[in-house]
Amino acid sequence: MKPKVLILVDWPKDVFMSLNDVADVGFGPFESREELLEELRDVEALVAGVTPVDRELLENAPKLKVVARFGVGYDNVDVEECTKRGIYVTYTPNALSDTVADLTMGLIICLARKILQADRYVRTEWAKPGSLKFPLGVDLSGKVLGIIGLGRIGSSVARKAKAFNMRITYYDVIRRENLERNLGVSYADFNSLLKTSDFVTLHVPLMDATRGLIGERELKAMKETSYLVNTSRGPIIDEDALYKALIEGWIAGAALDVFTEEPLPLDSPLIKLNNVILTPHIGSAAAETRRRMAEMDVKNIRSVLMGKVPPNPIPEQKGLVFKR
Ligand code: NAD
Repeated sequence: MKPKVLILVDWPKDVFMSLNDVADVGFGPFESREELLEELRDVEALVAGVTPVDRELLENAPKLKVVARFGVGYDNVDVEECTKRGIYVTYTPNALSDTVADLTMGLIICLARKILQADRYVRTEWAKPGSLKFPLGVDLSGKVLGIIGLGRIGSSVARKAKAFNMRITYYDVIRRENLERNLGVSYADFNSLLKTSDFVTLHVPLMDATRGLIGERELKAMKETSYLVNTSRGPIIDEDALYKALIEGWIAGAALDVFTEEPLPLDSPLIKLNNVILTPHIGSAAAETRRRMAEMDVKNIRSVLMGKVPPNPIPEQKGLVFKR
């Protein structure tokens, strides 16, 4: 009998099916959590999207050898519990950095030039007699972009923003002097970055230290003319504080690809605001990128099923060898 592999993302099926020579490949989604847990009984490899891979799930998957995250964030995976059980956790670093950075730049440009409002204006106002003039935007050239987290995605954003002639500062728990030289970016402490940036963009992982990193105090520290962009993880921003900031004008606007609760509930107060752009967690949602991510997952799973160490373990499991 071939080992069972369960895929909890819906595309690209053909890439995942390439594991068929060594495994029986099955796909979600399931009607209920109970059905998923039932299906996990014999599964040896799991491709995980946003489904929480928690202790309950792991208890129901006694044969599991590898959790292959379809992405780079693994805040939905109980890493400690996986490690205790000898289960590899892998991810897809670099496969999606430029893609998320493209979206980030897209959102920054949309905020600066009010592109989404402009589209709505053409559809509803422009040709009406006596319609109001469309408000002016701002230039990106010469503006300060503050990047919080100068890792793979943050540094890709820096490269792209350079081409728009932005002045780039960053804050990170690790000082990146090489990147400072190579990318022409300068380091600022957290508070100075918030105070001086025209655009602040978040690229840190979600963990205890970054949950609620941007709250009332931080939003009040930002300039009234500044914009906040989040393509990392929703809970890094205190959404209630952001709502207050947007209606009371502490900052000029925001663009969010990620939310504390996803999908964002239709009754979220953010939905009614005109100074926020909302996208449905599409950071890596480009066809070529999703194929690259699936190919990395397949390589990781194939290695583990062959009794080898996977090529892309998460940093916490670097150097670990599990024999099961
Ligand atoms: P990375 O690990 O390369 O970079 C993260 C950076 O944040 C590192 O430089 C790290 O030192 C820094 N950092 C960690 N804690 C910090 C703190 N408390 N303060 C300041 N800096 C801190 O990760 P990456 O590949 O650039 O991805 C970043 C995040 O983007 C992921 O963890 C994921 O949550 C998110 N993401 C979102 C999407 C999307 O669809 N919107 C897609 C991919 C990734």
